[in-house]
Amino acid sequence: MADNNIKAHILGYPRMGEKRELKFALESFWRGELSPESLQQTAKALRLHHWEKQQSAGLDFITSNDFSLYDHVLDHTVLLGAQPKRFDKLPFGSKSNSAESQYFALARGNIEQPAMEMTKWLDTNYHYIVPELNADTEFSINAHDFLLQLDEAQKISKHVKPVLLGPVSFLYLSKAKGVHKLDLLYKLAQQYLYLLQELHARKIEWLQIDEPIFALDLNEEWLKAFKTVYAWFRISRPKLLLTTYFANVSRYQHVILDLPIDGVHLDLVRAPEQLLPWVNAMPAHWVLSAGVIDGRNIWRNDLDKTLKLLKVPTQRLKGRLWLAPSCSLLHTPVALSHELKMDPEIKSWLAFADEKLDDLRILTQALNEGEASVAVELAAARAAIASRYQSPRVHAPKVKARLASINTLNENRHSAFEYRQSQQKTRLNLPLLPTTTIGSFPQTADIRAARAEFKKGAMSLEQYALDMKSHIAHSIQQQEEIGLDVLVHGEAERNDMVEFFGEQLAGYAFTQQGWVQSYGSRCVKPPIIFGDVDRPEPMTVSTAQYAQSLSTKPVKGMLTGPITMLQWSFVRDDQPRETTALQLALAIRDEVDDLQNAGISVIQIDEPALREGLPLQKAAWPHYLNWAVRAFKLSASVARDDTQIHSHMRYAEFNDILPAIASMDADVITIETSRSAMELLDAFGEFSYPNEIGPGVYDIHSPRVPSVEAIEKLVQRAAEVIPVERLWINPDCGLKTRGWDETKSALKNMVQVAIKMRVAYSLP
Ligand code: GLN
Repeated sequence: MADNNIKAHILGYPRMGEKRELKFALESFWRGELSPESLQQTAKALRLHHWEKQQSAGLDFITSNDFSLYDHVLDHTVLLGAQPKRFDKLPFGSKSNSAESQYFALARGNIEQPAMEMTKWLDTNYHYIVPELNADTEFSINAHDFLLQLDEAQKISKHVKPVLLGPVSFLYLSKAKGVHKLDLLYKLAQQYLYLLQELHARKIEWLQIDEPIFALDLNEEWLKAFKTVYAWFRISRPKLLLTTYFANVSRYQHVILDLPIDGVHLDLVRAPEQLLPWVNAMPAHWVLSAGVIDGRNIWRNDLDKTLKLLKVPTQRLKGRLWLAPSCSLLHTPVALSHELKMDPEIKSWLAFADEKLDDLRILTQALNEGEASVAVELAAARAAIASRYQSPRVHAPKVKARLASINTLNENRHSAFEYRQSQQKTRLNLPLLPTTTIGSFPQTADIRAARAEFKKGAMSLEQYALDMKSHIAHSIQQQEEIGLDVLVHGEAERNDMVEFFGEQLAGYAFTQQGWVQSYGSRCVKPPIIFGDVDRPEPMTVSTAQYAQSLSTKPVKGMLTGPITMLQWSFVRDDQPRETTALQLALAIRDEVDDLQNAGISVIQIDEPALREGLPLQKAAWPHYLNWAVRAFKLSASVARDDTQIHSHMRYAEFNDILPAIASMDADVITIETSRSAMELLDAFGEFSYPNEIGPGVYDIHSPRVPSVEAIEKLVQRAAEVIPVERLWINPDCGLKTRGWDETKSALKNMVQVAIKMRVAYSLP
């Protein structure tokens, strides 16, 4: 069979290392225990290792300059010489002025300057450092580190494809003050031009230029910016592969096709339907990079299905077809080989970054040399996929039947809010401006040590349970002393608010080394939802009952909501996310019911991740909000009128989804905002939120103890936009990262404010 000459490559590889080597090196560098040279040594070794993996998977290129010590967008800020001027001065008395320390100061701040801002990279859980631009911003290329990494790569391969974040996305994703972003385009593009010429001089054939903002809703001005800037790139330069991901970009096809580039990458996992429209429209000299392997999830590729999808483009494009994962593999864990405890059947369904390289190799070989040349591999994949699609561990008829009859359940609370409010008032007998906390109390070294012992098998379940009980008793006693009105048990027994529940639900699996970079050295280990979710037995009832038995005040039952469970897990791809969300909702609903039957009068269902789930494109928002709100309501609506449902949320912005939040119909919402409390309240002033609400008045992310005056000012301000009868007083988030001393002082101040203001409001 003739070789179709189809090529394979990746858009980027995870940086942390199989055992998070980069994390540990970074953190010991920050503690002053590792020299800059040793840190760079670790980084270099990781890069080489990642390239070797790409070579041994037979990829046609190795991808360079995807590595970063902290964040690739920050690296571009430095590469383009756009560090904010406020960092120019070295901190007073600073001895450590290595280039590395200066770089990390941008991301982490120093004694004189707060860090640059950080935000989520599109709809992922990866956070980038936001370029900080203003009218004074000058760009000046500083390619030393970039070229050093390129040299390393060119030493081991003749086929190196470096990656750059494109200029339009760089500007779009930045934060600009006092200047219109696009007014900086020309100056910025100049720097790209220097670099493109240098890459050409180094005989780089292809450059991958990422323009991820094509996944967003762009106006004409930004679309025009693409035309303008890429027209400037008509110089001696490498060929340009423009990469898009996380969305169907067909609506911008007319713009992209007009650019003087040499190929385009498409995310065919998120949007396989865009393949043929692009194949049909491709200019004769362009390559099409087909992103057919999921870079955002951990499932093994259905190779047969992918080969079928690629049939037409293979015939039509031959050597102009490239295969790749849908996006950078940054968003997946590194290697399945470290999962020694995982159930082998479940493991056979998965592919982390290294297994995805393998899938890529098999697909490419199948297309180039015929399927017979990889018959064994294809058969193995087929067997794994068949087992996954049919396994009784994935498909629980009981859960499916329940979901099918979901319409017979009440999805709304029995009575309207006003009536529930009066019922709850009678039952709970709370003062005006009730005080509460969000759930967790400090996770002390004691608590963590006990959990580690228990996990290692060095502590018995009985002993561990006793230990946790004593921490719960301690936190109840502290809250009584502080004088809070609605107590919590403190969540000592929870390592993580998703993992704790996932471990008790059917359909969830956990990894040992499935880490994914969240920001800088910080990684998360999302659990895997592989099957129908079911709650075999109560998860929190005995703990809640125990905590309640220690106090005459109400103690909140504490649950994680269905959308947050979904959002912070790897989710199955064989059914719509919405179906999985509803299964989770039913499990939480059962728990709510069991809690109220056990006498718990207040139940909090946390949904901090609700906003994160919003689709990238506005047109898709209503559908998402519809099922997300439905899932929350399904979990809460089993509550009787006199059971008070709280929810905790976290937002960067509120105004745009306030109606959806209101329609969740929680009796009380407590809120953290990453912006100022003031901005938050403005939003609530404009949209009169109908139920009760507790805007966070104590910023728990700072070790500072807020004064009575500071808290009072915030509560007074809140009382101007929210009627006091519906106002609660609480911190903005859980307290697990804080110490007991500061926590107690802060909460005492908070309670004092409540007492003071109650007097003020009850005066005639
Ligand atoms: N109950 C959780 C806690 O206090 C809520 C945290 C959150 O929603 N982010 O830790």
